[in-house]
Amino acid sequence: MGRYKVEVDLLLCQGHGVCTEECPKVFEVVDVETGYPKVRVKEEFPDEALRSKVQDAVDYCPNRTIKIVELD
Ligand code: SF4
Repeated sequence: MGRYKVEVDLLLCQGHGVCTEECPKVFEVVDVETGYPKVRVKEEFPDEALRSKVQDAVDYCPNRTIKIVELD
């Protein structure tokens, strides 16, 4: 496995925070002025060692908001 990038669709995110429970090094949830809180990706290009936790966040996000994009 090579480098990868984490992408989120903020339109779909409803701030459940499951991602932060799975991988707090990469995801946090921040308040926004209107509507639901939203995820913020703290580390867009995480270390390979975090991949399985990022994958858990992908798998368990209730809104299927998170995507791993392989870069090479
Ligand atoms: S688990 Fe999904 S919907 Fe919830 S805050 Fe994270 S990205 Fe957003």
